[in-house]
Amino acid sequence: MATKINGVKGMNDLLPGQAARWQEMEAVAREVFALYGYREVRTPVVEPAQLFARGVGEATDIVKKEMYVFEDKGEDLLALRPEGTAGTVRAFIEHGAFVEGPQKWFYMGPMFRRERPQKGRYRQFHQIGCEAFGVAEPFIDAEQIALLDDYFARLGVRAELKLNTVGDGSCRPAYLQDLRAYLASRKGELCPDCNERMERNPLRVLDCKVESCQPVLAEAPRLLERLCPECAAHFDAVRSGLDALGVRYTVDTRLVRGLDYYVRTAYEFTSDALGSQSAVAGGGRYDGLVETLGGPPTPGIGFALGQERLAMILEKAGRAAPERKPVVFFVSADADGAREALRRAAELRRAGIACELDPRGGKMKAQFKQAERVGARYALVLGGNEVATGQAKLKDLATREETPVALAELVARVR
Ligand code: AMP
Repeated sequence: MATKINGVKGMNDLLPGQAARWQEMEAVAREVFALYGYREVRTPVVEPAQLFARGVGEATDIVKKEMYVFEDKGEDLLALRPEGTAGTVRAFIEHGAFVEGPQKWFYMGPMFRRERPQKGRYRQFHQIGCEAFGVAEPFIDAEQIALLDDYFARLGVRAELKLNTVGDGSCRPAYLQDLRAYLASRKGELCPDCNERMERNPLRVLDCKVESCQPVLAEAPRLLERLCPECAAHFDAVRSGLDALGVRYTVDTRLVRGLDYYVRTAYEFTSDALGSQSAVAGGGRYDGLVETLGGPPTPGIGFALGQERLAMILEKAGRAAPERKPVVFFVSADADGAREALRRAAELRRAGIACELDPRGGKMKAQFKQAERVGARYALVLGGNEVATGQAKLKDLATREETPVALAELVARVR
């Protein structure tokens, strides 16, 4: 045998036994998102690398360290998308969708980041995301968060909502200055990562999970107390919208979105079922992004949800993946029976009834075993005799009970 080739580290196969859960995740997303007026967009997995440098940020870990970048035969510098928002915004601008007024779009698909693989963190992972363009008013924030809350509820998943505001260009700069000064004053107590981020991206320091940093961060100045009146009013309105919708949340003043164009609303859903990588979805308002990518000033807010993590939660909650099983399994006794089985199976399938047969034929006992292995509800034995008389027996594989059935009435009877 030739040497076998394994898949790429950090990139997973999704086998048929697991796929049903993913299909459910996606079907429920489509259903719930449609109720809120979100429409699907599909953009390429490959984009110009520059899109992410500008749209995610040159200084972010994602772009600096984790992006898969390659030259397309010495011409353009391309990248595998590390997230879905930049490509969605690019398409929104490129196709002039902004002329039609506010738009709600969603996407789903694979994303790529060259991170250190661990539980809940992969190099190819999948996201489902929503983006609402063109509305600056806070009720859209509340509505989008409620959509996600609804989505989890439909799947029977419990996730905690954390909410925060990151201010905007009028209140954040002064706060950042104070934050930097505070962090610098306690430099020695902070981890190397925090020390490195302190100057460039002080908000991200608040997000640090290292144990020894926690006492310092707990005492850090809080933006919530220094918001400009507009940001304060926006935050209040988002909260009252969530209250009106009956969505429960906690305010987490250390929840941040790292990039400059994020303003005001930031939110995250977490689950205890996930361990250290506890975030299942994260979102925020990005009013500057469309403009940064060459479009007209357009407010926006979006989230992305990690499908691998959601699958882990569903699995842990013992939520069975609803896989479709055959209703009838045809067992053939001889060559005539095998031919009849082929025809009858086609007839049932045309009628929308799932069924199976063992194309290898062989011993009937083995075929019955196969019927049980695939989880069929009934077995139907066909041979020369059944073909000649047009009569057969439908055997309930759970109760072993046999019911006579005329082949001509098979579809109606099985139904
Ligand atoms: P982000 O795009 O970083 O805001 O992430 C949004 C969500 O995507 C997170 O809450 C995770 O559920 C998921 N996610 C992000 N990065 C990864 C990864 N490397 N592997 C698996 N899931 C991820």
